[in-house]
Order: sequence, then C-alpha cells, then structure tokens
Amino acid sequence: MVDRGIFGTALAAPIVAAAAVWAVLAAGLAHVEPRYVVKLAMPDDAGVIGLPKVEGPADASRPLVVIDAGHGGHDPGASGQDGEREKDLTLMLAQSMRDALLASGRVRVALTRDTDRFLVLAERADIAHRLNADLFISVHADAASSAEARGATIYTLSDKASDSVAEALAARENRADAVNGVSLAGKGQTVSSILVDLARREMRGSSQRFGELVVREGTDAITFHTQPQREAAFVVLKSLDLPSALIEAGYISNSEDAKAMRDQTWRKSFARTVARAIEIFLAERQAPALAAPNDVQ
Ligand SMILES: [Zn+2]
Repeated sequence: MVDRGIFGTALAAPIVAAAAVWAVLAAGLAHVEPRYVVKLAMPDDAGVIGLPKVEGPADASRPLVVIDAGHGGHDPGASGQDGEREKDLTLMLAQSMRDALLASGRVRVALTRDTDRFLVLAERADIAHRLNADLFISVHADAASSAEARGATIYTLSDKASDSVAEALAARENRADAVNGVSLAGKGQTVSSILVDLARREMRGSSQRFGELVVREGTDAITFHTQPQREAAFVVLKSLDLPSALIEAGYISNSEDAKAMRDQTWRKSFARTVARAIEIFLAERQAPALAAPNDVQ
C-alpha cells in the first residue's frame, strides 16, 4: 500500500527549505513573528484507488448509497465457532443489501468492495466522498466473549462511546488499519470551526435518524440486540460529512446468529428490511426540497 504519512521523504527537503526561508525573513523583520510553512503530502494519483462501479438507474439525480463490506483480504475480521469469517459474511450481506436496493430501482448503489480484498478504513470513507454519496453504510458481524450475546446493532458516530461494550467494539474494528501497518486515523482533521461543528451535528442527527428507521422497520423482521441503537467512535465513519452508520448484522460468536447470516434467505429478508429503511430515510431527506416555498401554491 502507499504510505500516506504526513511527511513523505520527498517533501522533507522542501519543508526544511521553506522553514529556513521563513527563519531568514523573520530575522530581517524584527516586528514580524516567525512563521513556518508546513506542507502536507497528499496521495498522488497512483495512490488513489479506483472507484467502484455505480449500479442502478442511469440517472445521477437519484440518491446514491455506498455499502461497505467490513474487513476483507488479509483481514478476516472476527471468527465464528464453525469457522465462519466475518469478511465473508459482510461481503454476502453487502451484496444482498445492494440487490434489495436495486430491485426497487429507486436508488443507485456502489459497494466499496465486491470481492475478497483489503481496504484501509480511510479508503472506504474516501470512496463515499468521491462518489458524492447520500448515505454510507458499513456492514459488520459482531463478536462477544459471551456466546449468548446476539442480535443486530446499529452504530452511529460519536466522540464518546455510549457504553464500554460499544467502546471495545470500536477499538476492535478500528484495529483493521493496524493490520496493514498503516495508520490513517485522524489525519487531515485539523479544521475546526463552528460551521464544521454544525454540519457534523446535523450529520450525526441524520445518521441517528437512519438508525431509528432501521430499528423501526425491523421490529418484526430482525432480531435486534437488547440495546439496538448505539454510538461509538468508529474510524470508518469519522471523516465522513454525509449520513453514515455501521450495522453489526448479528453476532458471529453466537451460533444461531452465525447460522442465520450464512443463510441466503435470512440475508435477503434482512437486506429487504434495511433497504426499506434506507429508502424511507432518503425520501425524508428529499422531502424538504419538494416542499420548498417556490413549489407551494
Ligand atoms: Zn467488523
């Protein structure tokens, strides 16, 4: 993988040179505070991964959902008692969700991965950014030390986890980057302003609304964890400026949940339910535009 560390060796010299120039200027201008230019290395074109294909209606005005199958490649994720691997279940779940959305023909869909390949967390979010997605959903399968724990959970982003279990889960999922020896977490997040804070708050509110809809629509169809809607600090959601959620479809550590996730019929039912919540969510977000003052007689 391409190292996107802030100070690439190629840029070390320009930084030193720029700093020296400013040091000289500062010495000559007694009343001017010393200033330094810091250049940030951006990934070059060769380091940017190709965008996945967008499926669905050939109408760019239709909302776009990016579905991210967690883990993949050399990162198998959590394991089940019967040898299930999280990366396989997440891919099958993501594909089922894509198929359910495409069946209705209302939205466009892209998968961050459609094969067994590895992506660092920031690349997953970056795909949603670059495609200008309306919603980003990362799919995972949970694991707990207690084999009893089961059910689906919808996580949205928070700086603080809603409980210690959510915190431990976020820590585990966030470790995926370390597997690859590249840590991209938190880079480029130096901008802080009231506007950014407001936008983030709005996005977090929207993301929570999506979580509510999944729980509401799934009441009869999905077995949820006793606390189905939670918050945690997931790296994969952190840099996103669009509504996003991480769905743990069930516990791979629970044999019944693992069996269900292996079952295509179960996945189809799960995917249909989530797809309905997605469509309601997107319709709600479009509704204010339809009800704009200009349209009112
Ligand atoms: Zn996971």
